[in-house]
Amino acid sequence: MYKIAKKDLPALFRRIAAGKELYLPLENGGQVNFGVWDEGGSVSLDTLKTVKSPKDAFFPQSETLYTCRRDGKNLSVDPEALQEQEFVLFGVKACDVRGFEILDQVFLADPVDTFYEARRAHATIVSLACHEPEETCFCNVFDIDCAAPAGDVASWSIGETLYWKPLTQKGEALTEAVKDLLAQAQEEPVESEKNSIRAIVEKLPYSHLSLEGWGGGALEEAFDSPLWEELYKPCLACGTCTFVCPTCQCYDIKDYDTGHGVQRYRCWDSCMYSDFTMMAHGNNRTSQMQRFRQRFMHKLVYFPANNDGIYSCVGCGRCVEKCPSALHIVKVIKTFAEASKSKHTGGEQP
Ligand code: SF4
Ligand code: SF4
Repeated sequence: MYKIAKKDLPALFRRIAAGKELYLPLENGGQVNFGVWDEGGSVSLDTLKTVKSPKDAFFPQSETLYTCRRDGKNLSVDPEALQEQEFVLFGVKACDVRGFEILDQVFLADPVDTFYEARRAHATIVSLACHEPEETCFCNVFDIDCAAPAGDVASWSIGETLYWKPLTQKGEALTEAVKDLLAQAQEEPVESEKNSIRAIVEKLPYSHLSLEGWGGGALEEAFDSPLWEELYKPCLACGTCTFVCPTCQCYDIKDYDTGHGVQRYRCWDSCMYSDFTMMAHGNNRTSQMQRFRQRFMHKLVYFPANNDGIYSCVGCGRCVEKCPSALHIVKVIKTFAEASKSKHTGGEQP
């Protein structure tokens, strides 16, 4: 375990940024999101949740895949270069670190997404414990411990000190590169802080949310439930929930006519949109209810069915905060739980 005084963090950032690109939570126009740090950047490590998750670092909101150019009768196709520069993502919370592991299941499965793979290979993640988890958080429901985040280096912000613990070889290498700025530290203050954080988590309103009835085996019963018809109605199909979510991974691929060629790019898409996966014959999901159901069935049933029981929600609570209709995954889980309870106690059936 190491430590550094918070007043010396700018020196630490400078040192890291001298050799690698450094991403930090930065305040810009009243919002905090991960961005590339440079001198004078307004770092906000105290912000619990960035508006968007840091998944952009691996899966950007929009990226060029390749460019076709026409020069007279000659056509050339130039694939976009893969990430080669090492970079550090600093201040990632435990839920978002798990979010990367969920994206790995998708993008690193055969056929591997080489753009994503290259970024993952060149990244070092410095996570940061959540010292003041909020009422919308429920990461513990998915066995995530926000007091002891994963990553290559874990860190804790306690008083005027940042504690630093390398967890992987990449973390050891980064630690070595900044070691003269760090001092040896005792584990005790961090262990005590972990206990305080876990005590807060225990009291959060969604901490005891039950996932009973969900999972890979719940396919038919959940899919056919009449509850979706009631639940989906306030949904505006705005897609906000999918864009702020650290695990949503749907994208579209489009061509842009540059006037002397074509740029093929991909950009995030949302299963909540009516033209999502539109094909020549139309769309497989023809109503908003079906699209709404898809999002939650994917996170709570299809994904665990195909990935050894892992849910593709990490309980970050962003959708809970951002949905303009107060409609989100917690509401879905609770509504199903209440209906199931009512069924088993002989009340009205869903
Ligand atoms: S944020 Fe809310 S209203 Fe918008 S698509 Fe998601 S569930 Fe629907
Ligand atoms: S579904 Fe909501 S709570 Fe779950 S990971 Fe996505 S944004 Fe976070």
